Formats: sequence, C-alpha cells, structure tokens
Amino acid sequence: VVGVTVPTRPGLLTVEEALERILAAVHGPLPAALLAPEAALGRYLAEPARATTDLPPWDNSAMDGYAVRAADVAGASEDRPVALRIVGEVAAGFVPTEPVEAGTAIRIATGAPMPPGADAVVPVELTVPIDAENRPIGGRSRDASGPLPAGCLVFDSVAVGGSVRERGGDLRAGTVILATGSRVTPAAVALAAGAGVGALSVHRAARVGVLATGDELRVPGDPLGPAGIPDANGPGLRALVVSSGAIPIDLGIARDVLDDATARVRRGVETADVVIVSGGVSVGPYDVVRGAFEAIGRVDLWRVAVQPGKPFVFGTAPRPGGDGSVLLFGLPGNPVSTAVTFELFVRPALLRLAGAREVEEPLDRALLLEPVRKSPGRRGFVRVVAERAESGAVRRDGQGRVLVRLAGGQGSHVLSALAAADALAVIPEAVDRLDAGAEVALRWLERR
Ligand code: AMP
Ligand code: MG
Repeated sequence: VVGVTVPTRPGLLTVEEALERILAAVHGPLPAALLAPEAALGRYLAEPARATTDLPPWDNSAMDGYAVRAADVAGASEDRPVALRIVGEVAAGFVPTEPVEAGTAIRIATGAPMPPGADAVVPVELTVPIDAENRPIGGRSRDASGPLPAGCLVFDSVAVGGSVRERGGDLRAGTVILATGSRVTPAAVALAAGAGVGALSVHRAARVGVLATGDELRVPGDPLGPAGIPDANGPGLRALVVSSGAIPIDLGIARDVLDDATARVRRGVETADVVIVSGGVSVGPYDVVRGAFEAIGRVDLWRVAVQPGKPFVFGTAPRPGGDGSVLLFGLPGNPVSTAVTFELFVRPALLRLAGAREVEEPLDRALLLEPVRKSPGRRGFVRVVAERAESGAVRRDGQGRVLVRLAGGQGSHVLSALAAADALAVIPEAVDRLDAGAEVALRWLERR
C-alpha cells in the first residue's frame, strides 16, 4: 500500500504538537453568566443544571377518561360492563375537589392531577355515558366533552396505576439534567425549561474577528476588474465561526501592506477574544501577517506538517486593559487550506473557550474506493464524498467502514470539491499514496 515512507518533515510541527500548544494558550473557558434556557441555545454549561421539581410534579392522568378505583372495575368486560356514578370532574391546571369512593368515578382530562382515592384511569374509549337510571345516553367514542353524565359504563378492567403518570416518573427534583461542559441543544432547552429551570449558567460566546488579506480580493458581487477575485474566506470563516457557536466580527479585507494588516488586527484585538486572518502567512514579499502579529503580540508557532495548510501561524496578543490574551490565527489563503486549518486548530480552540467538554472531533473509519496521492512528510486531509444508498444513508462495509471517493479536484484552491465533500480522509504523514482498499481515519465536516 505504501509507496515511500518518511517521518514528519524536520522543522515542522505535527498536527498534535500544534494543537497541544494552541490549547495550552487558552487559559480556560470564557466567563459564565445566567441565561434563560432558550437564550442559552448553542452555549456550554459552566455548572450542572438540576431539576427544580419532580417531573411530573404530581400523579396525573395520561388519558382523557375517568379516574377510578381499579378494584371497582376488576370484573368489567364487553358483556358485563360495570356502572360507576360520576361525582365530579377535574381538568388540567385544577385541583380535584372530590375524592373517588367505591362505585364512583371522576371525569379527568389528560394532565389533570389524580383525585384522592383513585388509583387508575379508564380511557374514555372504554366507556359509555349513562343517565341516573343507568340508561346509555351516548355511544363508545373518544369524546369526553359536553355535560357531565350521571354515570358511565366501563367495558374493561384496568390495572392499578393504569394510564397514570406517576409523580417523579420522568425526573426527581435535584437530578442533574445537564452536565458541565455539555452543549445546550433544543432538547436541552426543553428539558431545562420543563424541569423548572429558569436560568442556566453558560459560558459567554467567544467574539471572533475575521480578516481576509489580499490586494486581489473583492467583496463578493463587486466587479472583479482585470486581476480581482471574490473574497471567499472572509464570509466562509465567519460562517464557520457561527457554526462553532461563536460571534463573528467582520474586520474587512486588508491590503497586502503591513500597516493595513496591523491596524485591522489591532482593531480585532481590541474588540474580540480571537482574531482569524486568512492569507499572507507564507514567506512571499507580500506576506505581512506574521509581521502584524509580531507588532501587536507574539508568534508562538508556525508551519505545521499538514496538507493542505503548511503555512499556518498561531500567536497571542495581550488583551488591552484586561486579563489573559487574545488568540491570533493566521490561516493560509487558499480556501481549502483555510477551511481545513480552521477545523484542525481554530474550532477546538473556540470550543475550549466556550467551555465544551469535548473539543476534538471524534474520528470515524473509512475505506478508500480510489487511490490517493499526497506529499510525504505531512499529514494529508483529503476531501471525500461518502457513498450513499438511495435513501441518502451513508454506506459502510461489513466492518462498519464508510465507503468514500475523492470529492473532485484536490488542489487547495478547489472550492467546489470542498463544498461537495462530506468529510476529510486522514492520510498518514509517512506515505505518499494509498491504494484503493486502504483503511483511513475519517473526520466528518460540519454540515449545519
Ligand atoms: P496567500 O495565502 O495570501 O498566499 O494566498 C494563497 C492563495 O489563496 C492565492 O491564490 C490567493 O488569491 C488565494 N486567497 C487568499 N485569500 C483568499 C480569500 N479571502 N478568498 C479567496 N481566495 C483567497
Ligand atoms: Mg495573499
């Protein structure tokens, strides 16, 4: 399978070393504040959330029907229904006033508290309303509305506890419902709200300045002129920032001159927790980003053994008038390199700032259906498309490996292949090619 075998190129950091150094520079999650559950959507818990009440808070009916004593209807059948006298009614949100005594029933709505004395609910479908002389005044139906009948015939037995939702059956007061470091999902919002939690302690969302650099860049939609290209990375990175749960700040497009880049990075450092710059991080005469970082803060690492994305810069700048530092990321300008280095290095840092328990994307396993080539000495991240069944479900082989093909052109400028890709296949440093049939680690791309 392996063509040539070489270790990581000397002078370059491995992906793990780079990520470790970056995460070490994150001094902890951002401060926490209390937010209503729905306002906390997408944030991470700074403290566990506990149910403030048993849920349900009291025994209540799971059906529209009649609250009864199960023993009273133990012998009921289609041929020998049992007649019960109806002594009252209870709706959701009301407290039952009468108890259920032997031979009686109380009409009850779904969600209404169980009256004292009752131990089961007979669904309305198993009953027929009757008048004071035990004459049926309606048929079997699902209708439990209208005037309260004098009584009802019950056509089947029910078990003790039948159609009753027990107090605390879902949750007990004090139970941890959301753990520290977990993400507030829509279901978590409903759970917290339903468990009576009025506010969640969640970390503040990171503010992330995004700056594109390049004399060739034009605002998308503007005329390109003879030598312009549309700015893909500014908008693309801001979208990735949003998908990471952070708040993007547009720092515009810098010319390839040190003063402009420095001024814009400085504005980012003054207003944001993180600044991401795309382009201008190589060693060309117009690559001014390192200089800008050094003018404001310091460069902690650069050049990682990754393809695409080798000219990657990470640094920090002192936060003006505050504690800690602002993280500075310089990503290579080719849009695929930008996106890949964001996934590898920026997203985990944003998740760490956000207080997420897990900051690294879990890896899946895949089987290459096509050969792959890359430069030896660097870890390759190859854009791939998963094979799918007609239903759209991802296809896996007998060993659970996702079947993948290359997503079009693998050049680091090929945006169309990036957009088409489902995932990145991870190609080890040591090899320069893998044949079809090789197993690789797979990193799914964010699709939300
Ligand atoms: P650089 O990293 O500045 O040397 O740029 C590498 C390549 O990426 C060049 O072809 C640039 O034109 C291109 N590029 C840089 N920034 C962007 C951007 N924001 N949108 C699209 N392409 C870009
Ligand atoms: Mg450039």
